[in-house]
Amino acid sequence: MKSAYASISKSALAHNIARLRQQAPNTKLMAMVKANAYGHGMLQIATSLNHVDALGVARVEEALALREAGVSTEIVLLEGFYTDSNIGALAAANISTVIHCEHQLLALENAKLSQPMKVWVKIDSGMHRLGFSPQQFESLKLRFYQSNNIQQNPGFMSHFASADESNQDYTLSQIACFDNCVQGLQGQQSLANSAGIFAFEQSHRDWIRPGIALYGVSPFAHLSAEDLGLLAVMELRSSLIAVRPHQAGESAGYGRIWRSPHDTYLGVVAIGYGDGYPRTAPEGTPVRINGRIVPIVGRVSMDMLTVDLGPKPMDQVGDEAIIWGAGLPVEDVAKHVGTIGYELVTKLTSRVPLYYK
Ligand code: PLP
Repeated sequence: MKSAYASISKSALAHNIARLRQQAPNTKLMAMVKANAYGHGMLQIATSLNHVDALGVARVEEALALREAGVSTEIVLLEGFYTDSNIGALAAANISTVIHCEHQLLALENAKLSQPMKVWVKIDSGMHRLGFSPQQFESLKLRFYQSNNIQQNPGFMSHFASADESNQDYTLSQIACFDNCVQGLQGQQSLANSAGIFAFEQSHRDWIRPGIALYGVSPFAHLSAEDLGLLAVMELRSSLIAVRPHQAGESAGYGRIWRSPHDTYLGVVAIGYGDGYPRTAPEGTPVRINGRIVPIVGRVSMDMLTVDLGPKPMDQVGDEAIIWGAGLPVEDVAKHVGTIGYELVTKLTSRVPLYYK
């Protein structure tokens, strides 16, 4: 009987890359492997991604760990969390960086580097999180071409705030804002995250930057991964560790928040918030056991959760439970929990082993 584990399909990953290439032909592909490759295991995923043009990370440590593991693909430090003290290490490891504020530009201009770095300039076209505002960009843009520490030419990127929404107005205004900023400038361009790749062909430009779609999860609420031709890379499984008769009116689990309306059998599944499964999953959140969907009842605890198997279950201790994966997309679980598939896959804890096939 197995405790919670995730099976990671390299062939599904390869399929998704091919699907993204088909959706955005003639662009380079920067694969997001930040946050432990959205929970899928950064080093394993990075070394399986043979046919991508660059890898995107969000932390200096992630970038350096990839190089230390011998990954030779171009690596882009996206959020540019670098300081005066670690620019040298990044340059020595040949990491490309994103500059999003004047402080970073100054640090880069003043650094003593043996060779210029490849730099992407982040323009804030409407996300209002990181990046140069159009006005700032206008007043600073010549400096990106003048520093000896910046490889000619810099690249220009921006990030979409709501490309997954069916109302496209805001994303179109972001594209227009970006175009206005970079008009007449030499340098590669990158705008599209997963949602942008599928919904805004005009945003493909020189580089696409897929994250969640690589892992076979839809970025849209109104379109499934299947609709997009993507295959789930992660399947999270565990086992039934108890099947117990349960009387009508009785509660189950901490806080006694649920009482059974009927005589039934409860199944206890070995996964809980200690594995990263959300404690907030409400009654009715689906689990798949022996080909059927059964609802969670009662509160999710640290090591286990309970499901209502119904009055005459065929299920037995040791049977497999699919928490998400085949027949139960993570997006469906996320909708019940009030979150997004991104969060569920990324939040698995180190207690859950990842097996690659
Ligand atoms: N580009 C940047 C700058 C990001 O921060 C992210 C992820 O948050 C992505 C691309 C990939 O986004 P997604 O996972 O929605 O494709």
